[in-house]
Amino acid sequence: MSKQKMREESERLIREAMEKKSITITQGKTRIEAKCGKCGAPNRLSAEPGQQRVTFACKECGHKQTTL
Ligand SMILES: [Zn+2]
Repeated sequence: MSKQKMREESERLIREAMEKKSITITQGKTRIEAKCGKCGAPNRLSAEPGQQRVTFACKECGHKQTTL
């Protein structure tokens, strides 16, 4: 395999990754999977773009917490 081919391949992968990212941005919200710190139940949350932390109440035990 030539260097040219390898470069084209890596560029293609980067382009695909960027396309996936733009799809997430188009949807507006980011999905977060957060584990409850009290009972360990998985909670599916959605965050606004750029939002680092989401405050939520666990769907299982109602424990209020903020994602890391
Ligand atoms: Zn919980």
